[in-house]
Amino acid sequence: MITIKSKREIELMKEAGAVVAYVLREIEQYIKPGISTLELDAIAEKMIRSKGASPSFKGYQGFPNSICTSINNMLVHGIPSAKAILHEGDIISIDCGAYLHGYHGDAAYTYAVGRIDDKHQRLLDVTKQSLYEGLKQVKAGNRIGDISHAIQSYVESFGYSLPIEYTGHGIGQEMHEDPAVPNVGMAGSLERLKAGMCIAIEPMVFEGKPHCRTLSDGWGVVSKDGSWAAHFEHSVVVLEDGYEILTKED
Ligand code: MG
Ligand code: MG
Repeated sequence: MITIKSKREIELMKEAGAVVAYVLREIEQYIKPGISTLELDAIAEKMIRSKGASPSFKGYQGFPNSICTSINNMLVHGIPSAKAILHEGDIISIDCGAYLHGYHGDAAYTYAVGRIDDKHQRLLDVTKQSLYEGLKQVKAGNRIGDISHAIQSYVESFGYSLPIEYTGHGIGQEMHEDPAVPNVGMAGSLERLKAGMCIAIEPMVFEGKPHCRTLSDGWGVVSKDGSWAAHFEHSVVVLEDGYEILTKED
């Protein structure tokens, strides 16, 4: 069921979203060669709790940690580990969710570790921009498929791909609500957007083919062809004439 949030609910969602934005901004200074993803997780959890929020992901369907940390060829859902150490030239996607006053915020960002190849920088730039291409379609009266189509056509024009298994989603009192927000689809298809709908838009992009597999830990999703991946996400509220990002700081 798709829910329309009240003004009061949207104010609360902005508070949860601000915590996520704070974490994704502050964590960047720690993203350096030599740090483990488990250390990043501990730092992020401390930041989330310092704002009176709790990590949305911890315990979600048994996920053991507070953030997802996905390095290089990993698309999403990486479990933080003391053995996963960042190296110069890596890229790392951090997905963060915070729960505050009964509502969730959810956003993701892919960071460069030190200096990275131009090839991978382009992947980051295109994936980030594809999120904004999708956002341009967000306003009351448009359809979810308009967002999907905008993301897909932009990403594919660079020769990259989007696995269809992973989508954006509605967000609110639950982290994952209806509707699904696919990254691949036809303009004019799926649900019509209404003011007050809150959705998380999250292009997950491979440099190579869109085929992926899940690791034996049951979480980490990697490319089958070894190509690298990037992931950018914002939670937003649909307005009559556009949108407002919820996962931002005031
Ligand atoms: Mg999400
Ligand atoms: Mg997320």
